[in-house]
Amino acid sequence: DPILELENIHLSYSPGREIIHGVSFTIEKGEMVSIAGKNGAGKSTLASLICGFNKPTSGRILFNGKDIMNDTIKERAERMGLVMQNPNQMISKHMIFEEVALGLVLRGVPEDEIKERVEKTLKICGLYPFRNWPISALSFGQKKRVTIASILVLEPALIILDEPTAGQDFKHYTEIMEFLSELNEQGITILMITHDMHLMLEYTPRAIVIADGEKIADDTSANILTDRNVIKKANLKETSLFD
Ligand code: ADP
Ligand code: MG
Ligand code: MG
Repeated sequence: DPILELENIHLSYSPGREIIHGVSFTIEKGEMVSIAGKNGAGKSTLASLICGFNKPTSGRILFNGKDIMNDTIKERAERMGLVMQNPNQMISKHMIFEEVALGLVLRGVPEDEIKERVEKTLKICGLYPFRNWPISALSFGQKKRVTIASILVLEPALIILDEPTAGQDFKHYTEIMEFLSELNEQGITILMITHDMHLMLEYTPRAIVIADGEKIADDTSANILTDRNVIKKANLKETSLFD
């Protein structure tokens, strides 16, 4: 069954300047899929439309078969989690533990359970030693891992990650991706925004390629990565950062 359906999504920020030109795709429950494309293709915009930070000019989005166009950001956040591209948008003055615990606190989860879940997630994300640090003291890569941890700890049915490996070294990149794969094996659907072909091939069996606000391919990652036209048009990175 589909968990997420985009039906002919269009978006203009100003008249005559359309950014998304009729994008449709379906994500099945339990899939792990990449949305790939070069900088400016419209990937983050699609994520913001799915999560309700933006409204499409036309088209429909369905979650578990139900139209969510009139659902608020908050209502959507109970079913899906978005790890945003830029962790510097975090303005929190919290310590890391508090920041990652916040979503569970707001949901009224018992304190013991919060401690257990947050500590486990911090360990997975390589942040446990820094749990009492203020967020402002962290590097870009560490902040990115705090945003990832804040979503992972909630275990939503659908997780959208906007360039999760940006600013990460190989160790953290691998740990994050292995953990996402584990969550996916437990049934969580994962939508990964990336331009890293290594990540696509290694971790997401299927990829949707976006170029200039249009879907130009939707196929197995293996097929996409051998299609010279798609690679060229989408300007995908041909080699991994870590080769
Ligand atoms: P990607 O995530 O693939 O790099 P984005 O979704 O961030 O691409 O951007 C897609 C296009 O939309 C770009 O041309 C960008 O300049 C434009 N854009 C993004 N946000 C806004 C905005 N708030 N107002 C106007 N244009 C925007
Ligand atoms: Mg960009
Ligand atoms: Mg982006």
